[in-house]
Amino acid sequence: MEEIFCDVLIAGGGNAALSAAITAAEKGHSVIVADRAPYHMRGGNTRHTRNLRAMHTNPTNILSDSYTEDEYYEDLIRVTEGNTNDKLARLTIQKSAELTDWLFDRGIKFQGALGGTLSLGRTNAFFLGGGRAMLNALYRTAIKLKVKCLCDTEVLKLNIIDNKFKSAVLKENDIETKINAKAFIIASGGFQGNENWMKEAWGDISKNFLIRGTPYNTGGLIREMLDNNAIQIGEANQCHAVAIDARAPKYDGGITSRLDAVPFGIVVNKDGDRFYDEGEDFWPKRYAIWGRLIASQPEQIGYCIVDSKSINSFMPSVFPAIQADDINSLAKIVNLDPKNLNRTINNFNDSIVEGEFNHTILDNCYTKNINVPKTHWARKIDVAPFYLWPLRPGITFTYLGLKVNENAEVGMKNLTIGNGNIFAAGETMAGNVLGKGYLAGIGMTIGTVFGRLAGEGASNYVSS
Ligand SMILES: Cc1cc2nc3c(=O)[nH]c(=O)nc-3n(C[C@H](O)[C@H](O)[C@H](O)COP(=O)(O)OP(=O)(O)OC[C@H]3O[C@@H](n4cnc5c(N)ncnc54)[C@H](O)[C@@H]3O)c2cc1C
Repeated sequence: MEEIFCDVLIAGGGNAALSAAITAAEKGHSVIVADRAPYHMRGGNTRHTRNLRAMHTNPTNILSDSYTEDEYYEDLIRVTEGNTNDKLARLTIQKSAELTDWLFDRGIKFQGALGGTLSLGRTNAFFLGGGRAMLNALYRTAIKLKVKCLCDTEVLKLNIIDNKFKSAVLKENDIETKINAKAFIIASGGFQGNENWMKEAWGDISKNFLIRGTPYNTGGLIREMLDNNAIQIGEANQCHAVAIDARAPKYDGGITSRLDAVPFGIVVNKDGDRFYDEGEDFWPKRYAIWGRLIASQPEQIGYCIVDSKSINSFMPSVFPAIQADDINSLAKIVNLDPKNLNRTINNFNDSIVEGEFNHTILDNCYTKNINVPKTHWARKIDVAPFYLWPLRPGITFTYLGLKVNENAEVGMKNLTIGNGNIFAAGETMAGNVLGKGYLAGIGMTIGTVFGRLAGEGASNYVSS
């Protein structure tokens, strides 16, 4: 087997890996980045992203107003219900303030601050051209710094002795190469692409989950690290899961399979029953809970229904809605019991307290005297034609991963953290910050912050 030597070996090829690679290469170290995906799919879930969440105290040309550390922290505590490592959460937030400048200096372009009522322009910096453009800029910078970027190359087997990384076997096509490196960074994503592991975590129902991103994040290296004494963080069934169009492909449908119709109508399950308040809050604040909600329904399927009053009020769906002139016909197309669906819609229509409909605020259109309330944007479903979209849980990424410290160093059982040469970034360690729940844009923030920390940590180790 051919043997190669370098300072830092990085498994992965997305934002976390590239942020780490650039950081280590800028400090003068030789770096190899290996992504198991083919060239056109390199960069995993990062390809699908649009923004990152960053604190700032004054308006910039990318972010409006201010988004303070405390506000960001409160948002994080709310969504995680306190399931976060406080020190790492604070560190992520504080370091997020540097990210737009750091990325801009390395070729990433941003859009101007977004307008609109959801304040995203205040909290989230949007990549011009999306995640793919962002990723391509990171690769260009890494290559200029002489980082060796490999595609179609899986980091297969780790040789870890006495809790220290020694070497890894890389596989490109059928050719195996041994890489000896002074430090190792694992940035190879979660395990959502691993059907067996998902089944272990969720049981049989996982067969009905769709994976929104890359099929290549299968968690092999997380498993290998855990088998090699690394300390686990996060639970196997914690993840970011949204409701997506059930007709999306099993893998990699990306953001196009998202559906924004829910607050404008109702969602029923296979039995034709409603099961959750569709108008609880603005959709961007709620869409991440609907994946789990649908996962807990019979056969893990839901059906969103709106009438023609609402059809032009949200972003059109990529898959056209199923359409019918009456509820009976609509039910029959998707094998729902027409009697049940009519009953649910009639009960819902009868419960409505009419107000002034306004989808840009938490309006005063709500339901009364009904088991499952709808607290905003409740309007009768009574104007034909009627529209329906089937929904499935869409898994974005899993949270089980590796425990790290504030230098992104992986905690190993029986080793005082601070002496090791193994680091983790991105989805492989996001569970340290996200014990549960999600805050839009924080995935890329965690990846860039800990990618940089991992690159620095590995550099320091190599230099020491
Ligand atoms: C549809 C979608 C939209 C999203 N939008 C946003 C957004 O707008 N903002 C945000 O903050 N987050 C978003 N996220 C989440 C975000 O994509 C992730 O948090 C982030 O990209 C993780 O970066 P990463 O580098 O850890 O992983 P990835 O970018 O997934 O990269 C992991 C890489 O590791 C490779 N790999 C896996 N195993 C191995 C192995 N054994 N050897 C070598 N390589 C391996 C994979 O091929 C992959 O390229 C989105 C996710 C999805 C799916």
